[in-house]
Amino acid sequence: MCKSWNERFAETPDVLKSAERQQTVVPVLDFEVGGDDFVTMAGPCSVETEFQLLATANRVRKAGARILRGGAFKPRSSPYAFQGLGLEGLKMLARAREESGLAIVTEVMSEDDVPMVAEYADILQIGTRNMENYSLLEAAAQSGRPILLKRGMVATVAELLRSAQVILDAGNPNVILCERGIRTFETALRNTFDVAIIALLKQISHLPVIADPSHAAGHRDLVPALSRIAVAAGADGLLVEVHPNPAKAWSDGDQSLDFAEFDDMMAALNPYLALRELGLTTREAGPTMRNAAGTRPMEAVG
Ligand code: PEP
Ligand code: MN
Repeated sequence: MCKSWNERFAETPDVLKSAERQQTVVPVLDFEVGGDDFVTMAGPCSVETEFQLLATANRVRKAGARILRGGAFKPRSSPYAFQGLGLEGLKMLARAREESGLAIVTEVMSEDDVPMVAEYADILQIGTRNMENYSLLEAAAQSGRPILLKRGMVATVAELLRSAQVILDAGNPNVILCERGIRTFETALRNTFDVAIIALLKQISHLPVIADPSHAAGHRDLVPALSRIAVAAGADGLLVEVHPNPAKAWSDGDQSLDFAEFDDMMAALNPYLALRELGLTTREAGPTMRNAAGTRPMEAVG
């Protein structure tokens, strides 16, 4: 007989739905991820200049994004590619939060950087290359900030859930899972968007799930379609790369939308979001866990 999902993933019990916990809602500034609202995180792959970041923040906010993304510490495929602005980039992100009111998600790559990144960011991103770096996960968890955990590019569902369990075990309940495409035999696209894992995670786990269509596709023309598919699969939100001038982007320009393309993508999502809302009003509500917001140890200085 087939094992139940709960038996199958029994080694990570705390990430699975239970009678007490059907949905985790992660507080971020004055809103929530994993609640009724679909939350879009958008912004450049890398923080480059103050102009680039502020222009993007203002524009994506107008189009409906709630969170600004942007890497100050960049894991790159080539050791010779731009590695990020570091602290200078974090300060630009804090300025952009002040000006736009958007929350900030940015990647942390090393344990040593956790206190500094946590001082400026509202959500700490763990990138695909670090999903199984348990000492980084523990340090990030202990910062008290919500964690956006990206699926490793060759990680199974069980491995993703194990990493989420590590964060919960470190005392941080605010974990957001992210499907960003995996490596398969298919080479036409940068990665293979594993949309089934979104549906599966929504079925078995109480943690919010967001989709990153940009890294999944690697090509900007596919990002709007993958975003619509993510909504239909039940995702709680998106992480999308947007740049004022993708042709000149310092990283991931091919998959970044320009402002007009992002506006169009957001507008095209509306009918899908309306269907999602219809689903929310008709579904049976189970117990929702509203966790306390992490405290900001020090106000970031712009
Ligand atoms: C990113 O979000 O820019 C990024 C580097 O993502 P990933 O870790 O999924 O490659
Ligand atoms: Mn990127």
